[in-house]
Amino acid sequence: MLYINGEWRHSLSGNTLDIYNPATGEKISNVAYCGKEETREAIEKAHDAFQTWKQTTGQERAQLLKKVADLIRENGEEIAQTITKEMGKPITEARREIISGSNYVEWFAEEAKRIYGETIPAPQIDKHLMLVQQPIGVVGAITPWNYPLSMVTRKIAPALAAGCTVVLKPAPSTPLTAIKVFECFYKAGLPKGVVNLVIGPAEEIGAELTSNPLVRKITFTGSTTVGKKLIRDSADTVKKISMELGGHAPFIVFEDANMDAAVEGAISTKFVNNGQTCICTNRIYVAEEIAEEFGEKLAAKALQLIVGNGLNESTQVGPLINEQALKKVDSHVKDAIAHNGEILCGGERMEFSNLNGCFYKPTVINHANDRMKIAQEETFGPVVPIFTFKSEGEVIEKANNTNYGLAAYCYTSDLGRGLRMMRELDYGIVGINDPAPIVTQSPFGGLKESGIGKEGGKQGIQEYLEKKFVSILIG
Ligand code: ADP
Repeated sequence: MLYINGEWRHSLSGNTLDIYNPATGEKISNVAYCGKEETREAIEKAHDAFQTWKQTTGQERAQLLKKVADLIRENGEEIAQTITKEMGKPITEARREIISGSNYVEWFAEEAKRIYGETIPAPQIDKHLMLVQQPIGVVGAITPWNYPLSMVTRKIAPALAAGCTVVLKPAPSTPLTAIKVFECFYKAGLPKGVVNLVIGPAEEIGAELTSNPLVRKITFTGSTTVGKKLIRDSADTVKKISMELGGHAPFIVFEDANMDAAVEGAISTKFVNNGQTCICTNRIYVAEEIAEEFGEKLAAKALQLIVGNGLNESTQVGPLINEQALKKVDSHVKDAIAHNGEILCGGERMEFSNLNGCFYKPTVINHANDRMKIAQEETFGPVVPIFTFKSEGEVIEKANNTNYGLAAYCYTSDLGRGLRMMRELDYGIVGINDPAPIVTQSPFGGLKESGIGKEGGKQGIQEYLEKKFVSILIG
């Protein structure tokens, strides 16, 4: 169903979209599928709702958001099952997403009370200067399928906390989780029009969101290609934008690193969400003298990962989102082999007699080199190449040799080296001996073509506020 102006709706055309479970290939549901007209109506209703929502206090908005966070937690198991059924991740990871997704809502409920302004010292005694912060207006939010709950809450919660209203377009493969989140908004009693949900063809809805002058802000998570298009399309109406785009994370292991911790870290940063995360490790760089040992240990651990239907409690790696994703992963592996890569484990599709899904064996490729596609393109799957390096300077140069700049990881027991890496790596997120840097408090965002702006942390709400300068002549 769509959710527009506080009502659950069918599309005007009556069209629906079938939703499939990527682990089994089975159809699990169908949802209303709308277009430009419903999107325009949702924007107009969000604009009407903004006139009163912006007048509420931070305290009032905080109370409603706190209720939303509680409702997500109360319905957590049902939402987690929905996440796993529609996009495949292991149920244990889906449960972790319930925690992170609801934590974002609680965090921004608290931040709603902390939207401060500034008093600016005036150059003359008869003036009083101030900077006030105000909500920007209607927000168009476009989210991906890989974190169908937390990508939605990490955008909508700060927008609402700031006093903005929202029209959300979730990814077409994961609308069911978005609907569950909107049920929480509905039950929490958010005023009508404050949040709106449209599901339909990306280009058509995207065109309306980016061209409609009532939308003052576009927030997007997804591929760099689509992000660039949205930036271009938003230019005519000069919208504020925030973009969380692709990544190509280097994972650097120095000779002085704790080898076992680095192997564990590589496993978790690579195979979480089956490699379908923009901060997933894409390239491992290991100091030459320890590379063979590291590769053996990593492949041994990767072989132990339990692949299967995410609904099984023991599953550690689920299916890829669809056949097209599997083909891309396989093409990167074949290309790596053609460029002299050595497969240490995996390297092919995984078949199950009882599952008709898109499974791929966790794969480690040794002797990687820069001629391979995988050295530059985002694989978005359970495949990792190992490169070697001789010096710190060389690995910094190689790690930074990409247009992406989202996340980088580095393992070393030398504090000075860790700090040098922090300074030199051109990435918005750097984990030093830490495979899981992202928490609610962290400002998440990329440099270069990985994005613009931050989500999460105290910075997250700033994306939805405008600063207004006021000068008062006292006389
Ligand atoms: P992915 O390859 O991970 O699906 P995309 O960037 O294609 O990444 O998709 C991320 C989100 O962007 C999804 O909600 C998708 O429907 C949406 N999207 C894709 N193309 C467009 C477009 N031209 N305009 C607006 N949204 C789009």
